[in-house]
Amino acid sequence: MNLTDRAYVRQLLERHGMTLKKSRGQNFLANHTVVEEIASLCGDEELCIIEIGPGVGAMTAELAKLYKKVIAIEVDRDLIPVLEETLGEYDNVEVIFEDAMKIDFRAFVDEKFPGERVCVCANLPYYITSPVIMKLLDASDCFESIVVMIQKEVADRFCAEPDTDDYGKITLAVQYKAAVEKCFSVSAGNFIPPPKVTSTVIKMNIRKEPPVKPVSVENMFKLIGAAFAQRRKTLSNAIKATGVNYTKEEIEDAIEHIGFDRNVRGECLGLSDYARLSDILILK
Ligand code: SAM
Repeated sequence: MNLTDRAYVRQLLERHGMTLKKSRGQNFLANHTVVEEIASLCGDEELCIIEIGPGVGAMTAELAKLYKKVIAIEVDRDLIPVLEETLGEYDNVEVIFEDAMKIDFRAFVDEKFPGERVCVCANLPYYITSPVIMKLLDASDCFESIVVMIQKEVADRFCAEPDTDDYGKITLAVQYKAAVEKCFSVSAGNFIPPPKVTSTVIKMNIRKEPPVKPVSVENMFKLIGAAFAQRRKTLSNAIKATGVNYTKEEIEDAIEHIGFDRNVRGECLGLSDYARLSDILILK
């Protein structure tokens, strides 16, 4: 059984009367080396793995060989007989047919993996990349790391530096929770069918301690939201536009106090700068 062989996969799907669904982001990996490389990024053999979207089970099988236990979450019930056939031999694999977007990951990990170290590993369907990652990061304390293949453009945003086009609210939200490592890129030709984008594998190492500790994290993210909601405006104008009680001069004084020009734009500040500004300016 070669789950990354194009002819084998097409015949397998045909035998089960299944066709690939574009609407479900079904671009399956057709390169065994890439599958091995992604699976090996999770960590050591004591880890338990949650895989989102097993497809025909190519990566699931590899993960099962390397780690203690794998639970794969698949939304497409047409894949039930396929996965029964391809993963039947692995005692340490469980497949759950549910929409990953509807799962409460904290409760899920408590129930399925109590006391275990958990890594999420996935070749994510492109149509839910950012929402599913934000959902996972909301429960980030449940995971040691998140290894995902995503569109290159999204990976670039997650890893962006201040004062670049890719830098934004999502960069700061992700970097607050995790140290993000770009591992390698995978070209479209390595998938069945080829997607229209290049993919990048990233590893998000979940932080045990937040990198900054403002008095109110919520206020810091309100500031960040305000700054990037009006990207072309100066930071002081963007903050003023939220209807705060501060005068423009008071906002500019605060910005100057943390070491920036009064006319700086929000995209020039890093997370630690927002943390410091947040302790001076409280948004409503
Ligand atoms: N892991 C396989 C591989 O690498 O070849 C398949 C990856 S394919 C890009 C994405 C998979 O996610 C598909 O099997 C698709 O049906 C599944 N999927 C799509 N939306 C999902 C959702 N909301 N919840 C769980 N799985 C989903």
